[in-house]
Amino acid sequence: SADQILEKRKKFLGPSLFYYYQKPLNIVEGKMQYLYDENGRRYLDAFAGIVTVSCGHCHPEVLNAITEQSKLLQHATTIYLHHAIADFAEALASKMPGNLKVVYFVNSGSEANELAMLMARLYSGNLGMISLRNAYHGGSSSTIGLTALNTWKYPIPEGEIHHVINPDPFRGVFGSDATRYAKEVQDHIEYGTSGKVAGFIAETIQGVGGAVELAPGYLKQVYDIVRKAGGVCIADEVQTGFGRTGSHYWGFETQGVIPDIVTMAKGIGNGLPLGAVVTTPEIANVMAKKIQFNTFGGNPVCSAGGLAVLRVIDKEKRQAHCADVGSHLIGRLRSLQDKHDIIGDVRGRGLMVGVELVTDGKEKTPAKAETAILFEKMRELGVLLGKGGLHGNVFRIKPPMCFTKDDAEYLVDALDYAMSKL
Ligand code: PMP
Repeated sequence: SADQILEKRKKFLGPSLFYYYQKPLNIVEGKMQYLYDENGRRYLDAFAGIVTVSCGHCHPEVLNAITEQSKLLQHATTIYLHHAIADFAEALASKMPGNLKVVYFVNSGSEANELAMLMARLYSGNLGMISLRNAYHGGSSSTIGLTALNTWKYPIPEGEIHHVINPDPFRGVFGSDATRYAKEVQDHIEYGTSGKVAGFIAETIQGVGGAVELAPGYLKQVYDIVRKAGGVCIADEVQTGFGRTGSHYWGFETQGVIPDIVTMAKGIGNGLPLGAVVTTPEIANVMAKKIQFNTFGGNPVCSAGGLAVLRVIDKEKRQAHCADVGSHLIGRLRSLQDKHDIIGDVRGRGLMVGVELVTDGKEKTPAKAETAILFEKMRELGVLLGKGGLHGNVFRIKPPMCFTKDDAEYLVDALDYAMSKL
């Protein structure tokens, strides 16, 4: 039962674990966009295991690919040949623009960003990394430094890491003025570093930070500035990749840029532990004479599953579906904003949506307590949302990409009802 699990967690798992909901949900089964608890109650999953279940829980085609591969061979490592990793790398490279053709497989987003940072430093010969405030890039000892959320009270562990102001159109001091934010990066490099940097990393829509879409045109200007300072540009597509934004397959395309390194995880495996770094042959070459080995990266089961994910997204036209359902959802949420003053901002693209709650529209005071109440109420109504933002006052709606317009209707009606009861 839920109580027994809780007791064991407390006894045997670390104290840093946290859970959603006052009475944590005990999940036993998942089918596409639905989760089922121990009593068989169904919930609409609008958070997809933190933006990870891309195709849907236990999607039959992904499940079949994993199962069949598991029966044949689960593990061998890259010291032998196996077709799955090669087929998967080929399929993934075919999804990338420009000269981004060399793939490294790892097991998580943190690992992907670790490797990207290492490559940036080796390739550029510099140490300084720039990341944005309000960013999440991982929890490993290096990436924790790139992560810049006020809830993380760790010392920045190594090397030079610089956090610059994030170009947040809703809360940022320069509104949507991408040029002013880009100037901050220029100034920071000029006055805060040797004038040379290793790289710049950003999510193209900040995920954990609360679905913050970077001011339009920002990345183009910053990429120029960073490259002039000797650095490489890294796009963290851990949440934004694989068509979720609807308008594009990759989040960086929404800003009209081509990065030098792209990192990904979460949705790439529909729940399997899988991540990847894709870069150019020129950058990959700096790794040629170095030890770069990953025991599990691209193992047969994960590669078979990842390949199935890519196929399903194409076959089921999930990118177009995200665009269609997402614009419907965002439209309905904007109508709700007219009705409920507590909704300060509705933002996002496709099925990567944020609803920021404020107690006061002018000052934009975060409605922290109200968000917590609504969050519990939505669970009672059978809808599981994500929570995020610097102040914990943003609902993150990032469901499996099979989420339908009917699901969107249900979610918005539930939110409307919950808000009217506040
Ligand atoms: N980058 C982004 C944008 C993320 O959202 C996350 C996870 N929340 C990570 C990196 C780290 O991924 P992982 O937890 O798989 O290490």
